[in-house]
Amino acid sequence: MSEHFDLITIGGGSGGVAASRRAAAHGARVALIESDALGGTCVHRGCVPKKLMMYAGQFRSAFDTAAAFGWTMENEQFHMETWQDAKNAELERLDKIYQQMLQSANVELINGLAQITGRGRVRVGARELSCTHLLIATGGRPSAAPIAGLEHAATSEDMLNSRTVPRRMAVVGAGYIGMEFASIFSRLGSEVSVFFRDHSPLRGFDHDLRIRLSQALERAGLTLYAGSNMESLTRSGNGYLLQVRGKEPMAFDAVLNATGRIPNTENLGLQSIGLELGPGAAIPVNDYSATVVPGVYAVGDVTNRKNLTPLAIAEGRAFADTVFGGLDIPFQATEVATAVFTEPSIGTVGLTENDAAQQGALIIYEADFRPMATAFAQRSDRTYMKLVVDAASDRVLGIHMIGNDAPEIIQSLAVSLRAGVTKRQFDQTIAIHPTTAEEFVLMR
Ligand code: FAD
Ligand code: NDP
Repeated sequence: MSEHFDLITIGGGSGGVAASRRAAAHGARVALIESDALGGTCVHRGCVPKKLMMYAGQFRSAFDTAAAFGWTMENEQFHMETWQDAKNAELERLDKIYQQMLQSANVELINGLAQITGRGRVRVGARELSCTHLLIATGGRPSAAPIAGLEHAATSEDMLNSRTVPRRMAVVGAGYIGMEFASIFSRLGSEVSVFFRDHSPLRGFDHDLRIRLSQALERAGLTLYAGSNMESLTRSGNGYLLQVRGKEPMAFDAVLNATGRIPNTENLGLQSIGLELGPGAAIPVNDYSATVVPGVYAVGDVTNRKNLTPLAIAEGRAFADTVFGGLDIPFQATEVATAVFTEPSIGTVGLTENDAAQQGALIIYEADFRPMATAFAQRSDRTYMKLVVDAASDRVLGIHMIGNDAPEIIQSLAVSLRAGVTKRQFDQTIAIHPTTAEEFVLMR
């Protein structure tokens, strides 16, 4: 005899948990199946431990400037083991909070690996379950670009679980993960080299941010190998040799593979319901997160739309509100703010200058200045901000920043961009002085 649910969710990460709680709040009988820790990638292998590690790295800059402000700094040292223990305790705490949240939401949590066995049928261990609606929220995992031996490199998860800081570290790939980990490990003490095939890191971001991030990281001591053609990675003693075309092999103690991620769609039993995968092994869905199979939905990284936690959550809630809440909420990820937690950090929302230029004439406003926080220390840090404005309507189409607190500042400005803010309204806004953010309302 199988147990029946209105909704079975496979995957207890950002999307699956949000959707399940919302569906239960609408009165649905919900089971959530998770094979690992609750909270998924973001909580255990992504956003949260990454940000906690970033905080550890930020002390480097504070130590470097402290003396100029009158402090005596002596013999500061970082112990990764202490950080690891504190991080693991924090993640255990979060796992318990997730369990309590699901319990109080009346979602039945089932531990185990789910396998779809047919329309409306799911197996977990010896349990046979059935459902009216199925939500696939199984996330993704690191993939390796076709570079010989790259699969032996560390993943972002390995680096987050490392109990030591490598002396010489190579990062292959210069997307979000590559740049964040390169920046963080450099601040923790590694000698970091980054290898990527484009002329600048962070393809897809505004070109002024990309160029300035390269310059800032090089000033901070990282070595960036732009335009690299990586040929192979081999083990050598306790370390690695990286072969890049046209160069002598280079030796590293650790190598991070940051060449992208792939959806978890293998061995799920999708063929039993006739669900075919799209490009990159992702599950194709429409604006309601519905697949072509009636009653089967998918949210989050497994759909490979824009792979960010707040989007997985928003997709999950829109699905639950539509299917169980009697609402009609198509979800389209437009004007999504995003951040890269490097040092200096990046925050961005709306169109890049190049993309906006396809739509018509623009006026670009910029501010480029030395931040007050490091002025005493005679450092060459810069903060850069850009407003991309439609010349005809005066509407702000894109807001971009690289510098301290960029993610915090851009999060607030994202509200105004979404509300259709004009440059004139920026001009009419009185500044808070002295702040970094005030430069956004002082650009002329
Ligand atoms: P996941 O959170 O991956 O959850 C999927 C869950 O499904 C997992 O817990 C898995 O164990 C489970 N599962 C899989 N298969 C099965 C099965 N057959 N049976 C049962 N359970 C199964 N995003 C941001 O917005 N900001 C950031 O700063 C950020 N930093 C990141 C840093 C790193 C290093 C990484 C890797 C990602 C980061 N992301 C960040 C992206 C973010 O983590 C993901 O977009 C988000 O976690 C996706 O949520 P999800 O619910 O789709 O999948
Ligand atoms: P990204 O897609 O951001 O970056 C992948 C990198 O690998 C790019 O530099 C890409 O180069 C390179 N690459 C891909 N294929 C090859 C190849 N065949 N040869 C050489 N280089 C290659 O993926 P990430 O793994 O960094 O991150 C995955 C996702 O996780 C992100 O897209 C983001 O959605 C999410 N994330 C979000 C964070 C945040 O919000 N702060 C932080 C971390 C992750 P090229 O540009 O030339 O294609």
